[in-house]
Amino acid sequence: MRVVDLLARKRDGGELQGDELRELVLGYARGEVPDYQMAAFLMAGYLRGFTQAETESLTDAMLASGERLDLSRLAGPTVDKHSTGGVADGTTLVVGPLAAAVGMQVLKLSGRGLGHTGGTLDKLESIPGMRVELSVEELLDQVERVGLAVAAQSASLVPADKAIYALRDVTATVGSTALIASSVMSKKLAGGAGTILLDVKAGSGAFMKDVPAAAELARTCVGLGQAAGRRTAALVTDMDQPLGDLVGNAVEVQEAVEILRGERRGRMLDLSLTLTGHLAALAGVASDPEEGRQRAAKALDGGAGLEKLRDMVATQGGDPRVLDDLSLLPQAPVRRDLTAPRAGWLAEVDAEAVGRAAAALGAGRRRKEDRIDAAVAVELTVKLGDRLDAGDRIGRILARDQEAAEAAARELGAALRFGEQPVQPPPLVHEVIAAP
Ligand code: URA
Repeated sequence: MRVVDLLARKRDGGELQGDELRELVLGYARGEVPDYQMAAFLMAGYLRGFTQAETESLTDAMLASGERLDLSRLAGPTVDKHSTGGVADGTTLVVGPLAAAVGMQVLKLSGRGLGHTGGTLDKLESIPGMRVELSVEELLDQVERVGLAVAAQSASLVPADKAIYALRDVTATVGSTALIASSVMSKKLAGGAGTILLDVKAGSGAFMKDVPAAAELARTCVGLGQAAGRRTAALVTDMDQPLGDLVGNAVEVQEAVEILRGERRGRMLDLSLTLTGHLAALAGVASDPEEGRQRAAKALDGGAGLEKLRDMVATQGGDPRVLDDLSLLPQAPVRRDLTAPRAGWLAEVDAEAVGRAAAALGAGRRRKEDRIDAAVAVELTVKLGDRLDAGDRIGRILARDQEAAEAAARELGAALRFGEQPVQPPPLVHEVIAAP
């Protein structure tokens, strides 16, 4: 196989065969195919698109580049849920405990935040002592005993994705549906769970800015999961505004704990119950998503979800007292209130700009090696469609110093638009995509 011939065929709109894509991807992972040829392939594929067969082959090839977790010793049902990334999108810390509380075994391999989106590992590490680097043995033992583990994906799982993602990032080829789907699904398949639920975000704070593009990504991912023999479904959900009220790291743990304690309601709770309901139905522990949702709500009301989170935190070395005393989480020294600049209805939120404002305070990283500040955050308590008077409190900024707080306040001011007319808020769930 001459790589240059494959590139020419893809450039001219032809289709590549499974063995050709496998050679290309595995050759790149082994360091035999150089960056410049892989970059040319990615751009040709980005512009020409990939057929379903090519997308499946790409996913298989990525999967074959590394190890896979074998969960056969777990009684099951083993489940995984994955969000394509958003702002104030901390559902894993609510859905994971609730799913475990209603009888599923949750093994979730997560990533760190990059750019304007947060990462579950960074949030968890704001709990003093919390370890997210677990060996396979530790992971499986914990899931067997507690029903829930959230840990870092090891470098030996899908190494091709790591290398290809880095190249996509610098060649303007991230936004291809097939490339995103094969990247996401190769990691989910390597994680081994029998049931996979995807939360595909659509809107100003998401990769996919509109619902049709997000639905296409969701359908592609569900098709890949089904083809690999996993029970897979996807929800396309709103990211035209931050999901929860708090954007940061320690504050997102706080929000999850308050939800599990029954003290906080709203969109994050609503979506978490919906996701858990769909997971339960898909995994066969509920007859349908509505019954699953009711069981999740019961587990929350009875405190079983909170106890699952406590067990997980304690088992991973974290200080479980945090769940009773949130002041043990890192605290920012400067607090600055945000108020509505004028009367009107909240008509538009640039959720990505809100995420960027939090990242600029120190909650996120620009480059992988940056350190994050667990305490800083943005709180935005208004939602699309809310009616406000000038001067009403709409949130606050938690910062290291006054200067950073003022800069974030300016960015947030520019991220919100108030209108003269009532505004219909977007639905929380746009579409449910089940297997064909
Ligand atoms: N998340 C991933 O894991 N991969 C992508 O390509 C995009 C989002």
